[in-house]
Amino acid sequence: MSIARFWRETPRRYNLGGSNCTICGTVYFPPRAVCPTCPHHRQTLEKMVPFQLSGDGEVFSFTVVHDAAEGFEMQVPYVMALVKTVEGPVLTGQVVDISPGEVQIGLKVRATFRKLREEGKAGVIHYGYKFSPALESDVRPPSRGPTVPVETAAPTDRVSA
Ligand SMILES: [Zn+2]
Repeated sequence: MSIARFWRETPRRYNLGGSNCTICGTVYFPPRAVCPTCPHHRQTLEKMVPFQLSGDGEVFSFTVVHDAAEGFEMQVPYVMALVKTVEGPVLTGQVVDISPGEVQIGLKVRATFRKLREEGKAGVIHYGYKFSPALESDVRPPSRGPTVPVETAAPTDRVSA
């Protein structure tokens, strides 16, 4: 991919800009021009609006990768996950800032923008989204720390305490 094309596509890569069907409410990422969910696709052409995904979601499925693809050699083992966003679309991405053994189904994560890889000798650096745990309290093993039920303690209180 040329550098010019890469930067043209950058807003979508950085912002998780999808589209939303204003007829049925389905959110798409990447954005779609028509809604495949609605029975009359062509009627949705004028009804699709840009939609900004929050980047919040939870791990729906994941795999620990031990054999890295070219350009990812420095990062093994790492976790690739399917993340179901709160808005609906399922995104694929690497889960970072957590050891692979601690990732589990249902882990709350948030999209974060990171360097993905360097390309060739030119050293073109590609950035994109990865996922990191949404809250520190979500990744802490229950055996460590106080045994305060999550429901009664706001995350911000626990961080500042
Ligand atoms: Zn629709």
